[in-house]
Amino acid sequence: MKKTDDIPQNFDPESVRKKYLQERDKRLVDGRAEIRDLRNDEHFARYRRDPFTEYQDREAMTDSVDVAIIGGGMGGVVAGAHLRKAGIRRIRIIDEAGGIGGTWYWNRYPGVMCDVESYSYMPMLEDLDYIPKNRYAFGDEIMGHFQAIAEKYDLVSDAMFHTRVERTEWDEASSRWRLSTDHGDEISAKYVVMAVGILNLMKMPAIPGMETFRGKAFHTARWDFEYTGGNIHGGLNKLSDKVVGVIGTGASAIQCIPHLAESAKKLFVFQRTPSAIGVRGNRPTHDDFSEDLRPGWQRERMENFQAILLGLPVETDLVKDGWTKHFGPTHRYPRDPSWTDAEYGRRLEAFDFEVMEEHRQRVADIVHDPKTADVLKPYYRYICKRPCFHDEYLSAFNHPNVELIDCPAGIERVTANGPVIEGREFPLDCIVYATGFEAETTPFYRRAGHDIFGRDGLRLADKWADGPKTMFGIMSHGFPNMIIMPCPGQQAVVTVSHTLITVEAGEHVGAMIGQLEQKEVSVFEVSEEAETEWCETILSTHMKASPIMAACTPSRINHEGNPNALSPLSGAYGGGMGDFFGYKQRLAEWIDSGELAGLLLKK
Ligand code: NDP
Repeated sequence: MKKTDDIPQNFDPESVRKKYLQERDKRLVDGRAEIRDLRNDEHFARYRRDPFTEYQDREAMTDSVDVAIIGGGMGGVVAGAHLRKAGIRRIRIIDEAGGIGGTWYWNRYPGVMCDVESYSYMPMLEDLDYIPKNRYAFGDEIMGHFQAIAEKYDLVSDAMFHTRVERTEWDEASSRWRLSTDHGDEISAKYVVMAVGILNLMKMPAIPGMETFRGKAFHTARWDFEYTGGNIHGGLNKLSDKVVGVIGTGASAIQCIPHLAESAKKLFVFQRTPSAIGVRGNRPTHDDFSEDLRPGWQRERMENFQAILLGLPVETDLVKDGWTKHFGPTHRYPRDPSWTDAEYGRRLEAFDFEVMEEHRQRVADIVHDPKTADVLKPYYRYICKRPCFHDEYLSAFNHPNVELIDCPAGIERVTANGPVIEGREFPLDCIVYATGFEAETTPFYRRAGHDIFGRDGLRLADKWADGPKTMFGIMSHGFPNMIIMPCPGQQAVVTVSHTLITVEAGEHVGAMIGQLEQKEVSVFEVSEEAETEWCETILSTHMKASPIMAACTPSRINHEGNPNALSPLSGAYGGGMGDFFGYKQRLAEWIDSGELAGLLLKK
């Protein structure tokens, strides 16, 4: 086929596809997705313990509140803030963590930061009159910001930390929810907001023999600074005589590896699949950043970011980073109406190739040892794995104490001394599991970690066994007065920066419960018809995974090589990642009409 000007000369689609499939096949091995269920694993349950805040004994409590919010992360805090704005008085946040923060409470590994720019990622900046210190914020600033929101809206003094809800049950007689916790608390609540998080389940691979390892081992989401020394900004001074191994090279690993490389006597990095490491370009916020900001600037910035990632036309790219430069167009390549599908596909593939070549070239430019560089080069299409961004990760492999171990089929087994790859044992003092989290699409009832019983004892896990059934992705028939914060795979929409959908939903929760209270409603429930209609809307735009996804290297995004694993009911409004702007409009019109159509209301 004749090449046009925008198709790179070195692009040979056949050989690129062949190489990508070869690399994929090395990784598509049986058992790659097997994980340990940390809630029910006698050896690894202790990996969940909180190393950051001391546990305190306390008496069981009986209480009655207006709203119980399960989860004190971003979702819980933002929803709580908007409920306060709507005039709700008695709000109780309940969380297993020792404080506010959710993901950012638990993830304190050295180097932890957010690779979505802070001005979009940190919610409610205008409410708090806060401007982040850097373009990309470190975890402690983000956690501090969530705490500041919670303080401002008085969500902390009544919160229950280190408390796990064990059962949530609708009580028909009182028309209220009853929550029982692991402390023996009994909380009665008019409304429940489920804000349980999307990355709250640590993923520990099921590698044979892991439990026999005699050294120190922990997951990045429970970093043991007592063992390593230092803090989230590095300085891991207790590792100077230690041989450390990191398992995983995803978003968490690439942030902590430079610090481990700096401090450990020897560092082995066990890599199954290389991440695509784009430029981060972090910098302090310019002094004049806030000079020209008008009210509403943050929402405008967040929506501009989302629009670009959805391939929608914008006047200007306000964020201008790797997400907008690469993710937007590889996900939704701008299409000329005159192109056939084949022409579109050809240009998209060529563009993707260029993007990945840029990443591969970056590795070659930074990493001195050509063999190590080769292993670090990602061979798959950009959208196959969540992209990463970092400016110090690749150069960490130039440290003489760092060794990259290529193990595309994963780690064979772990002995008392350490991991074994192709018969070679790697004796270690410490294993850091940077193995991530169960997918965001893990069903809500599993992420919630406890049984939820609605009307007539209906168990949510049973009702949703074949996929979620909701209206707007946030309410379900049979579960009155309950709102479930939206997440991927739950009939709402997906936003790359989870903050955007969280803020949207948080405002919606506040407005909706405010309206219900004004109308003096005691019970609301989505009607069966309204729920069926929403499910049909979701099903009507459901698409099977594209051949591009099917050819991808296995990853969390494609359910470890099984892109059609989820039920069609798990789709988003508008199909694919979802039509964020259409969804937002639907919610706004629904609230603004004041009719709360589709809800059965009891005064
Ligand atoms: P990831 O799922 O991205 O990475 C896990 C890593 O562990 C992968 O490299 C994976 O290999 C590897 N792994 C898993 N099981 C095994 C095994 N059995 N043997 C060898 N290697 C294994 O997890 P992260 O914690 O890095 O990130 C999870 C998510 O958290 C991100 O996708 C992102 O959404 C969020 N996050 C966001 C950050 C941000 O800056 N915004 C920072 C950190 C996390 P393979 O690639 O082959 O699966």
